[in-house]
This record gives sequence, C-alpha cells and structure tokens, in this order.
Amino acid sequence: MNVKEELNKLPLEAKSPFELRVNLGRELPESDVRTALATGDMGFLHSFTTGSTVDGPGVRVVAWTTGCQFRCLYCHNPDTWTMSNGIPVTLEKATTELRKYRAGLKVMSGGFTLSGGEPLMQDRFAVKLLSAAQAMGIHTALDTNGSLGDRLTDAELDKIDLVLLDIKSWDAKRHRRLTGMEVGPVLDFARRLAALRRPIWVRFVLVPGLTDDLEDTAQIARFSASLGNVERVDVLPFHQMGRFKWKELKLDYKLADMRTPTLESVERACAQFRAEGLKAF
Ligand code: SF4
Repeated sequence: MNVKEELNKLPLEAKSPFELRVNLGRELPESDVRTALATGDMGFLHSFTTGSTVDGPGVRVVAWTTGCQFRCLYCHNPDTWTMSNGIPVTLEKATTELRKYRAGLKVMSGGFTLSGGEPLMQDRFAVKLLSAAQAMGIHTALDTNGSLGDRLTDAELDKIDLVLLDIKSWDAKRHRRLTGMEVGPVLDFARRLAALRRPIWVRFVLVPGLTDDLEDTAQIARFSASLGNVERVDVLPFHQMGRFKWKELKLDYKLADMRTPTLESVERACAQFRAEGLKAF
C-alpha cells in the first residue's frame, strides 16, 4: 500500500476536537503538499466532529483544518498549528463524508462549519469544500482568525453563509503579545464583510488579566456594532481543556496556572456588547 492509500484509511471522525493528533501527514511527499495547496483538491484535516451546537446556527458538522499562523497564548488546539499534523484528505473524500449528514443537518436547521487551525491557510481547499457544501444545500460557516481574508475574492465569500470571526483584542500591542500577529488585517476583513453585507458572528475569548481589560472590550463592542452586519457575539470563557496538548507537544505553555474567568466577568463582557445593541451570549 502506498502512502496515499494508507492515509486514506485513517479515520476522519474524532470523538472531540480535543483529541491529540500529530504527524499524520508527515509522510506525504513535499511536491504533493504543494500541489494540494495550489489546487485545493486535497486538504489537511485534524478531524471531522459531529453534533456541535456552538459553531454556528443549529447542529453542525465541523471539519477542523491544520495549519495556523497565529500562536495564541490560550490556544486549546496547538496540534492544529502544523499542517503536516493533519490527515491529507482529498476533496472528494471530504465531500463524500459531508454528504452523509446532509439530510440530518437540514432537519436540525444546522450546517457545516470549517474551523481550525486557520482554514484559510488552505484557502483553495476551503473554497472548494465550502462551495461543495453550499451546492448540496447545506448552510456553510467559516470559523477564522480573519487575517487571511484577502485570499478570498468577493465571489468566493458568497460561498460562505456566515463568518465566525475571532476578534482577540483591540489594542495592537496586546494583540501582538497574545497572538504573535497584527490585528489590522482582522479588522480590515471585518470591514470588508460589512461592506459586502455578509453576516458575522464575533467570537471573543475572555482570559483573566489578558483580554478582560474593560476599555479593550468596549472598543471591540463599539467596532462590532458599527459594522452593522454582526448578528451575535459569543463570549467564550477561557478553559484548560487543551493544557495536556501543550505538554504532550513539549510547548512552553504560559497559561498553565491561569484560572477560568468568573461568571461575573463573563456577564460583564456580555453586558458591554449588549450596551452597544448587540446580541451577546
Ligand atoms: S487562531 Fe485559533 S488555532 Fe490559531 S493559535 Fe489562535 S486559537 Fe489557536
């Protein structure tokens, strides 16, 4: 059996996104990786999970891609940072997998969410898979850190019914310290989606002492409200479910002793978004 045949036999479905997966695509020849990225006929997936109720409207099937250029201090899936940790999956196999759920997703008013990692690291695959899902009549969502939005044309954005946009911080310095990357492209992508009237759900991870600065949250709230296309905001309390992954991967986890935010601080952040007229949960 050759490398590709062996990889095709690996199970796509994970029990949860917290399953640690590493080096699954390492054996794939470099030339195949380059072709895959250029054509989008193959992608690298950590896994598929089913039954999510937190990654878009209704019940969702979620495909978790590998590859991310951010290095968020609170990332709970650092095994998705490296593309070669994922299973190389042909577009055909991913589409066939998704087709199995089409009828059920319709009944449950759900859909398909492409998450990661950062899905737009594999922008050609992302576009092809989301287009295939939409062509099957499945509602499509892209969960993204927003910094690679430039890779998609306006016509390609039409294939995405909803963008789940992570805004991690407003302040440029804090954003850099938190993620290693600039916030500007994220905000530019949000503005572009607003100009195109494409719906956004903002996701904001609340970490005590890191992202709970009241003025910072207020700025994100004001910005989100000013866009006019933000349908809701999810305030996501930091948790430690990914701590074991940092340890297994021998990464320096700076938040090992970080506590989860109090209910009051989560409610306070939600209230800041609501004060700007947004729905926040
Ligand atoms: S953008 Fe998401 S996947 Fe990438 S490092 Fe941040 S939390 Fe992790």
